[in-house]
Amino acid sequence: MRLDRFLSNLPQFSRADARLLLAGGRIRVNGQTIGDGRCEVREFSRIELDEQLLQAGKPARYFMLHKPVGVVSATEHPQHRTVLDLLDEPDKHELHIGGRLDLGTSGLLLITNDGLWSRRLTEPRSRLGKVYRVQTEQPITPEYIEVFAQGLYFAYENLTTLPAELQILDSHCALLTLHEGRYHQVKRMFGHFQNKVIGLHRERMGPLLLDPDLAPGEYRALSAEEIAQV
Ligand code: URA
Repeated sequence: MRLDRFLSNLPQFSRADARLLLAGGRIRVNGQTIGDGRCEVREFSRIELDEQLLQAGKPARYFMLHKPVGVVSATEHPQHRTVLDLLDEPDKHELHIGGRLDLGTSGLLLITNDGLWSRRLTEPRSRLGKVYRVQTEQPITPEYIEVFAQGLYFAYENLTTLPAELQILDSHCALLTLHEGRYHQVKRMFGHFQNKVIGLHRERMGPLLLDPDLAPGEYRALSAEEIAQV
């Protein structure tokens, strides 16, 4: 929301008051004096008028989890344990998942209360590569590389997948980099060749690599540098 809107939404200020306060250099956002009412503020912003606190700003929270197989990427589920059950954190209902994984998929999952940040991570426009290690039932042939690079038509959504990079590691194992996250995308792409995915693990999302010190089910907070990279 714009800062001028935030101020005039408060019961004590009219729009004219808001303009005067801003013009008078009396408003600080995260410690910085702001005179421009168009400045965007969020629930995480600390907003002050002189020495008076108008909004404390919620802490923004960011976690990296090594999702194990058999745990659901959802905040609630009637049958299975969810990834939120693995977190020992307060106010878990405020958290959401940036880029879900299937029940049978393991690997890097990012969990946050910052919707703008998780959108940057997942939206195709950001072009952040998500890297999956794929284990298949049938051999993977070099033909896959070109087909995945061209994009595959998904009739159900009536779309063609964005170019994806495949690096074959051995006859039944490859690294696949996607720049979007369609429903069961990896399995459907290998399904094009009638090749069943029997193991799927996400190693990376954009600049963020799954911490090798995290065992399946373990998590940690992201560092300030990691958060800023997205
Ligand atoms: N593609 C899949 O098929 N499953 C996942 O969990 C992630 C990507």
